[in-house]
Amino acid sequence: MNLAKKYILYLIRWQLSTPILAIVLNLLTDIPTIWATIIANLIGGLIFFWVDKIIFRKKSDVPLWEIKDEVKCVDCKKMGRGYRVVSWGKYDRSEDKNPKYRCRECSLKKMNQIKK
Ligand SMILES: [Zn+2]
Repeated sequence: MNLAKKYILYLIRWQLSTPILAIVLNLLTDIPTIWATIIANLIGGLIFFWVDKIIFRKKSDVPLWEIKDEVKCVDCKKMGRGYRVVSWGKYDRSEDKNPKYRCRECSLKKMNQIKK
């Protein structure tokens, strides 16, 4: 997604917070406006954190590699320098809690799988 497209999407997304604000302010007429606004923004924040995360997700055309020494290849069990693709286009393992490393040969095979 290019920046102009992201910008337009972000402006539309800002407008989506308008009904939340309007509904909450209409429902919570018994409490001070400032508190109703705080509650509305809290609800909006809970929702739009995830929406914004999608809008600002970075997708790279080139693979981002992580290289680590003295690891066991998950495929052939060979010890040595390990490689893994952290992110590449829609493929994203940046939050992976158990990252899998592969030797050079196995990592190239894996890379060809991701490419498809
Ligand atoms: Zn291997």
